[in-house]
Amino acid sequence: MVQKAEKIWKNGNLIAWDDANVHILTHTIHYGLGVFEGIRCYACEDGRSAVFRLREHVVRLRNSAKIGEMDIPFSVEEIEQGIKDTLNANGLKEGYIRPVAIIGEGVMGVHPQDNPVHLFIVTWPWGAYLGEEGLTKGIRVKISSYTRHHVNISMTKAKICGNYVNSILAKREAVRAGYDESLLLDTEGYVCEASGENIFIVEGNTLKTPPLTSILPGITRDSIMTLAGDLGLNVVEQRFTRDELYTADEAFFTGTAAEVTPIREVDDRTIGKGSAGDITLRIQSAFFDVVKGKGEWGKGEYARWRSYIDE
Ligand SMILES: *Cc1c(COP(=O)(O)O)cnc(C)c1O
Repeated sequence: MVQKAEKIWKNGNLIAWDDANVHILTHTIHYGLGVFEGIRCYACEDGRSAVFRLREHVVRLRNSAKIGEMDIPFSVEEIEQGIKDTLNANGLKEGYIRPVAIIGEGVMGVHPQDNPVHLFIVTWPWGAYLGEEGLTKGIRVKISSYTRHHVNISMTKAKICGNYVNSILAKREAVRAGYDESLLLDTEGYVCEASGENIFIVEGNTLKTPPLTSILPGITRDSIMTLAGDLGLNVVEQRFTRDELYTADEAFFTGTAAEVTPIREVDDRTIGKGSAGDITLRIQSAFFDVVKGKGEWGKGEYARWRSYIDE
């Protein structure tokens, strides 16, 4: 259950949590065209709180809306401020941030011309998405019987609400079969992404991740690719097959919710030594240092990725 907070931001105002309701004729509820973001705020070593890569998330929200032809009536700066205001109003030092833009009441067909677009920002405390143990020991993954979206059927670069029906089907199937997460292949059968995470494999000193064709362009993915360079690893964006994944030295998922989660098993085959890989753990540790402003990694150039909420 989501832990209730005091306030929710709606169209520029902070309103009571219990008042953030919508009408049943909200267009998005019927047809799934709405857009959202998943963002995290971390309590930093210096006692302050910082949102990780706030600008990139807000720009992606607006891009998702552009792809879906939804006119969000707030600028990047206004949304950034709204996010900080919501966290501060709720006294949240660390947590998850969910901006969601929906198409409201009006026309009920699939041509919502003048229906208003409403933007909400919700925040709540959220720990490790795939479990604390998942973060340290790695998770068990199953290749899904569902295929990930085709680039010309739904828009894969956008976090569009309706796209996640595919994710729910895949996740439920995997969890019911006793796995922690599902991994979907693309329409040509190559490894694509998980229900809400991007994937990397490690082969020797090289990190491999699927290119930005039919995957969601993850901000965590981008961060890891940047950090990996500093760790002396080669990074290639290249399609790979499920059998290449089976024989990889290591594998892990990335995402705002999942952070850096090691994969220890795929389709009942052990990956590497069957626990979190050494390179994966080095990357994970650098990532957590960067988001929390800790140690060497927390200093220097990566400070640019942290937006402090008291500013
Ligand atoms: C949000 C999401 C990701 C991860 O993106 P981040 O920006 O790293 O949070 C990956 N795949 C899908 C399908 C997603 O929805």
